[in-house]
Amino acid sequence: MVKCPNTGRELSTGIETDQAGFDRLPRLLTYSRCPLCRLEHAWWKREAWLAESDASEAATETAA
Ligand SMILES: [Zn+2]
Repeated sequence: MVKCPNTGRELSTGIETDQAGFDRLPRLLTYSRCPLCRLEHAWWKREAWLAESDASEAATETAA
């Protein structure tokens, strides 16, 4: 995932990978079409993060 600089919202890079695959991604500038503002954003790997399935964590926050 990366953050859209125009809307401040998270968007998918279109790259689906696990942690191991993410670690192997080259440190290159990557372009992804943003569905939020319909522009292409350039992002570095260090600016991206994996979309975690943290539904349980969110549920815990809601419960707390
Ligand atoms: Zn955008």
